[in-house]
Amino acid sequence: MPLSEFQHKRPIVVVGGGMTGASFALAAAGPDHPVMVVEAIAPGGAGGGFDARSTALSWGTRRIFEALGVWDDLGAAPCPIKRIEVSDQGHLGGVSFDHREQGLEALGYVVENHALGSALQERIAASEQIQMLAPANVISARPVPAGMELTIRQGDDELEITAALTVLADGGKSSIAGQLGIGRRMKSYQQYALAGNIALEKPHRNIAYERFTKHGPLAVLPLPALDGVHRASLVWTLPEPLARENLELAEDDLLPRLQRDFGPGMGRVTAIGGRGCFPLRLSRASEQARPGLVLLGNAAHTLHPVAGQGFNLALRDCTALAGIVREAADRREWPGDMAVLQRYLDQQEFDQEKTILFTDLLVSLFSGNATAKALFRRLGLLALDLFPPMRQSFVKNAVG
Ligand SMILES: Cc1cc2nc3c(=O)[nH]c(=O)nc-3n(C[C@H](O)[C@H](O)[C@H](O)COP(=O)(O)OP(=O)(O)OC[C@H]3O[C@@H](n4cnc5c(N)ncnc54)[C@H](O)[C@@H]3O)c2cc1C
Repeated sequence: MPLSEFQHKRPIVVVGGGMTGASFALAAAGPDHPVMVVEAIAPGGAGGGFDARSTALSWGTRRIFEALGVWDDLGAAPCPIKRIEVSDQGHLGGVSFDHREQGLEALGYVVENHALGSALQERIAASEQIQMLAPANVISARPVPAGMELTIRQGDDELEITAALTVLADGGKSSIAGQLGIGRRMKSYQQYALAGNIALEKPHRNIAYERFTKHGPLAVLPLPALDGVHRASLVWTLPEPLARENLELAEDDLLPRLQRDFGPGMGRVTAIGGRGCFPLRLSRASEQARPGLVLLGNAAHTLHPVAGQGFNLALRDCTALAGIVREAADRREWPGDMAVLQRYLDQQEFDQEKTILFTDLLVSLFSGNATAKALFRRLGLLALDLFPPMRQSFVKNAVG
């Protein structure tokens, strides 16, 4: 669609085409409200929102991706989680959850971010209602009566566009939100996540492991085998100095450390691939909406990965906002009108608060080795094992 025609159709511009921005664009685009996605990294390029990590997708996320047609495109990339085993380093036993007790085909799925990125980008490329501008950067945003006037830089060119609704999905360091004076409330967990893929000696049998170690939680999530190699995705929470040390350590020196923290549960870890290190914090934008502007994904709230909730929550936000924007179009309302955006905020407030609280509680309970905390943790695991209602409620929060 030529830009002049696009500009006349009350366009939505999404800043950032990572997992959140790309998903929102697919959920929201329609004949009456075309969407432009501006992404700093070229499709298939390194970095940006689709790095070497993997993401655990909840059952609810599967349903959303099915509705968007993305699930079929993912083919065999998502690995089902049939069982979750939770254990505490230095103590016998633990608690486990099985997909059969929930009556679900799987408790969730694990997909590599680059596979999800390719599926989302191919769907966007096939859509007539979405325009992708990449690599390109939104360099400034100014509020105007019709929405936001955005300046986009692509190579040596600069382009001005007025968006009826601007969606900031540009990550936890959103520079545009900063320019507009939107601050962030931060709580640092004083931890880093060391993330990467590992090779296992034995098949993982679709089991996800969550182990609480003296440094913090360690998660091993099943991935599809590749060329006969049994693979899993590792998220290892560590204090910053140790995370940095482990990031640089030679594989032969690192594997025994990992095995010591993980224990014998999943067998021998035989290799570790490219690693990344991520600071862990709970960070929330001080405002999620203004006339003509909404923040989504990491730009709105960045969560600790312990419960695998960050993207799943972002996707529920995307679907809710897309539904409200479509409904507004049917009612001939302006998509950036604050009354429209307030409906989105009201609809998602409870889900966001509940998910953030659940994640934050897990982090504080399951990090550290102080005697009182360790005892509380043991009691918590025991209660999850013994009391069906508590167990049900925990699994419901975890699988979304
Ligand atoms: C170790 C780890 C493990 C995790 N595991 C899980 C999990 O298992 N399950 C789960 O649900 N969540 C998980 N998460 C959370 C999940 O990764 C995030 O929710 C997700 O990455 C959010 O994506 P996003 O698109 O909002 O932001 P980002 O991934 O930061 O993407 C922002 C995009 O915006 C682009 N951009 C930025 N500024 C501009 C600009 N001015 N102009 C144009 N483009 C711009 C960037 O290039 C980038 O592509 C995990 C997080 C971590 C750290």
